[in-house]
Amino acid sequence: MSREENRLREQLCTLARSLYDRGLTHGSTGNISARTPDGGLLVSPTGTSFGRLDPARLARFDAAGTHVAGDQPTKEMPLHSAFYDTRSTAGAVVHLHSCHSVALSLLQEPNDDFLPPLTPYSVMQLGRVTLLPYFMPGDPAMGDAVRGLAGKRSAVMLANHGPVVAGRDVEAACNAIEELEATAQLTLMTRGLGPRGLTGAEVGNLVSTFDLEWEA
Ligand SMILES: [Zn+2]
Repeated sequence: MSREENRLREQLCTLARSLYDRGLTHGSTGNISARTPDGGLLVSPTGTSFGRLDPARLARFDAAGTHVAGDQPTKEMPLHSAFYDTRSTAGAVVHLHSCHSVALSLLQEPNDDFLPPLTPYSVMQLGRVTLLPYFMPGDPAMGDAVRGLAGKRSAVMLANHGPVVAGRDVEAACNAIEELEATAQLTLMTRGLGPRGLTGAEVGNLVSTFDLEWEA
């Protein structure tokens, strides 16, 4: 195993533990994956807690997608594959059962603007976030729904379930999913109080200045 892969295994488990320690996902919920330097994947095993991932037991796939070592991967693997297959820039994918995001998903119907533009960072780190419908756990239709977006979103929210975010690497994906949860929390905190969100022109300035993905 290369030194880079060892570092990646450690990083993946350290960041997962940090998310767990701060209550961003609980019990054995959440899953995380990352591209290895040789084009394969490391994936958190099924039934494991983000608080106790073992770098040596991560599920390892080769570049052809064959499981070659480690424990069995998460049952939500189709979600991860859907992002890697549709977004060439995806180097990591994280999925959480984070409380405020799930709460906010219960208050709206599926749409392409799950988060209101309250702060510039959510716009910059996430772009538009699509709220997908509810799917039964393990339903392959979840992965199909992500594929249906044709790579136009780096972040989606599964109704009554949790967010899924792809990033260029593990750190970027974790930072972005934390931004999603924090924005969902802000949205709930200010709901009904008439918050001043960013205007369409302010969002437009961010999109053009930072060359953000903002497709319909
Ligand atoms: Zn889940």
